[in-house]
Amino acid sequence: MKNNNFVKYKDLLSIKKINEKTNKEKFVYLPIKDNFVVGIYQADRNMLDYGKKIAVRQRVYEKLKKVSVKLKQYNENYKLIVVFGFRDMKLQEKYFYEIYDKVKNNFNDKMEMYEYIHEKIAVPEVAGHPTGGAVDIAIYDEKEKKIIDFGSKILDWDTIKSYYYCEDISKEAINNRKLLRKIMLEENFAPYDGEWWHFSYGDREWAFYYNKSEALYKQVNSDQVFKK
Ligand SMILES: [Zn+2]
Repeated sequence: MKNNNFVKYKDLLSIKKINEKTNKEKFVYLPIKDNFVVGIYQADRNMLDYGKKIAVRQRVYEKLKKVSVKLKQYNENYKLIVVFGFRDMKLQEKYFYEIYDKVKNNFNDKMEMYEYIHEKIAVPEVAGHPTGGAVDIAIYDEKEKKIIDFGSKILDWDTIKSYYYCEDISKEAINNRKLLRKIMLEENFAPYDGEWWHFSYGDREWAFYYNKSEALYKQVNSDQVFKK
């Protein structure tokens, strides 16, 4: 297996600035019923907390729309599936501290422990999903009525087959990963090597990947997103 170059917690700490102007960008819900644009696959029970709606930043939505158009050009049966977009900071913290509580006694060095946890769930202060810039996605084949082969199930962290460069998967799965990554990078999303399904735009991970000194979006709580 090739060396997976995971972005580390300390890398993300190096991005200290957030652009105040772009951070004002609004959130939009992905259109659940719009077959043409973005679909939803309910893989996570916590999505139900948000009324089965997935929110992302406006520009992220525009980009996903372009990606889904490209996907249709590639194969008319393909549809972009978004499983996760915005995640409340409180939920990010809950996930983080679940692991933290399990492993805290195994480490003397706090940084070392944070890096260990970060590989599984992002440290809240640098996490992408609570900014509305990160998405977990896959490709759904409408004719076959299933997600195409990516070598592992989306959001399955229990196998190293979630690593982008894992070679212990079929040729077809490797090609499908490449396709997904190619069309997402063409729209300026940043990939994450630890999860083939995770991409982001505007968060710290994106800024680090593209060598920017500042990120576009900051983490927010759901009451700021889901205004009545
Ligand atoms: Zn993700």
